[in-house]
Amino acid sequence: MPWTYDAPLADMRFVLEHVLDAPSAWARCGRHAELDLDTAASVLEEAAKFAAGVLLPLNASGDAQGCRLEAGRVRTPQGYREAYRAYVDGGWAALAGEPAWGGQGLPLLLDAAVREMLAACNHGWVMYPDLLHGACEVLLHHGSEALKDRYLQRLVTGQWLAAMALTEPGAGSDLGALRTRAEPQPDGSLRLRGSKVFISGADHDLTDNVVHLVLCRLPDAPPGSKGLSLALVPTVLPDGYRNAVHVDGLEHKLGIHGSATCALRYEDATGWLVGEPHRGLAAMFLMMNSARLHVGLQGLGHQEVAAQNARRQAAERVQFGRPIAQQPAMRQALLRGQALAEAHRVIAYRAALALDRAALHDDPQVRAAEQRMAALLTPVVKACLTEQGFAGASAALQVWGGYGYVEETGIAQVLRDSRIAMVYEGTNEIQAIDLMQRKLLADGGAGWQAWAAEARAEAARCEAAGTDPALAVVAAALRGQLDAADAALAALARYAHADAQAPLALAGDVLQGVHHALLAWAWAASARAAAGHPDTAWAQARTARMRWAAEWLLPQGLLHWRRVADGAPALPLVC
Ligand SMILES: Cc1cc2nc3c(=O)[nH]c(=O)nc-3n(C[C@H](O)[C@H](O)[C@H](O)COP(=O)(O)OP(=O)(O)OC[C@H]3O[C@@H](n4cnc5c(N)ncnc54)[C@H](O)[C@@H]3O)c2cc1C
Repeated sequence: MPWTYDAPLADMRFVLEHVLDAPSAWARCGRHAELDLDTAASVLEEAAKFAAGVLLPLNASGDAQGCRLEAGRVRTPQGYREAYRAYVDGGWAALAGEPAWGGQGLPLLLDAAVREMLAACNHGWVMYPDLLHGACEVLLHHGSEALKDRYLQRLVTGQWLAAMALTEPGAGSDLGALRTRAEPQPDGSLRLRGSKVFISGADHDLTDNVVHLVLCRLPDAPPGSKGLSLALVPTVLPDGYRNAVHVDGLEHKLGIHGSATCALRYEDATGWLVGEPHRGLAAMFLMMNSARLHVGLQGLGHQEVAAQNARRQAAERVQFGRPIAQQPAMRQALLRGQALAEAHRVIAYRAALALDRAALHDDPQVRAAEQRMAALLTPVVKACLTEQGFAGASAALQVWGGYGYVEETGIAQVLRDSRIAMVYEGTNEIQAIDLMQRKLLADGGAGWQAWAAEARAEAARCEAAGTDPALAVVAAALRGQLDAADAALAALARYAHADAQAPLALAGDVLQGVHHALLAWAWAASARAAAGHPDTAWAQARTARMRWAAEWLLPQGLLHWRRVADGAPALPLVC
């Protein structure tokens, strides 16, 4: 059976229209006010054609060929360059870009749905344009006028691509340890010296220039992460000469073979400071947060493509005289994959909508609240959607039995490709710590409380919505998660106050607890929205699935909150 991708356009529209009520949000968001759902849906239809028609056919071949280094320059797999041309010509690079710099200014919410489809079809290829939006944000908010004039339009339109150069051999999660030096020059430029590892798309043949955003240290930098500055370092200088940026090697990886993962050397490379000296990490966070949402969407793409191919396989494969989709164990696995992908779509799109509202809503209080919402949701989207991207691929592989373990089926590549998303862009452990320390404890839980109020209002709407008993079940499950979370978070704040290190062992449980509360909200909101849907057969199936998910999958969340409430037992140091 061929590996296929059928973009979940109906589900995407359902989330936009009925679950998130995006048109009402757009009406208050300046340049989005004129956007209507039919236009949005046709953008997504075109994106689905590009993803399935252009990128999917290059997925397995790009994986088999991989990238190669020729005379110090990276060559991408056959067809990648042409696909990138089509991507730029189709306006996809500029979709959510700033209109003043050549972008179309469409919502990040639509861009999120597009990125989900691209990643589902070809994770290796999507690595190249996935960093563009974040790079543009950094330049827009922190770049000098001269840098904006030289680089921003070319990046917004996708004429040039960007790379994010953070990691060094001695500095991965701990960026404060990085050593690349930047010496200021009399003409205002910088000279950079140092080595970076694992830099995605640092060089390639898709565009003539690649703009690196490099974390580095100025000579007078204080130690640690407070001493990091940000430099823009292009591979081709404004005078047309190549910059002293050398690719020393390409990593041989488990997956995403089509993506060039480069070991780099800056040897007195020319660059320019972006933002203020020693404030580089704060500027870089703009790029990292955009990238973290995109990585979460990669996880969602993996879940969707794995789940839908597994459903087709399970419907066709007959054992014991019936399709294996009718075997209860397989049925549960399929249901789980589908229900999680549906909820994760709601959560990820809510995060993207929060970014749109934070940037453009006409009420400054809403902008501030949505900024906190985006901050709260981003680490959960990054960590939990990527974890399920891999777990979902593994569960889907099981549906093929032995055939899943051979490469020809297609699911093995998803399993290999999806694994990296749990590691890069801040590992999932780092996301858990970020969520707990910066998003829950640091601001007195304001972001959480605002979201929990929204979730409680959703539970009330569910109960008021109608007579379907499923709605009462999902509403009660949501309230159960919120009550457990509130009690556990209050306990966490108490023992964190006494000892800031004490909660670290529980960061993973806090992450999973918040994840389950978000799942509960997404299933409740989806069930309520489906209850009023005109297609009653579709709506009933969906509501029944949401009820099943709330009853079968949410109790795990209570276990995580129980552990958080009890506090961590001291760890025996056995390793
Ligand atoms: C394919 C690929 C593409 C990449 N692309 C880029 C890129 O474009 N740009 C870039 O700058 N980097 C990139 N990276 C690097 C990536 O971001 C790092 O690998 C990642 O941040 C982890 O750093 P590390 O590998 O040094 O692991 P380490 O930091 O050594 O961590 C090892 C393990 O320890 C855990 N750990 C570390 N500290 C803590 C802590 N305080 N608490 C709990 N657990 C902890 C980590 O979660 C991890 O599981 C890429 C990596 C790969 C493999």
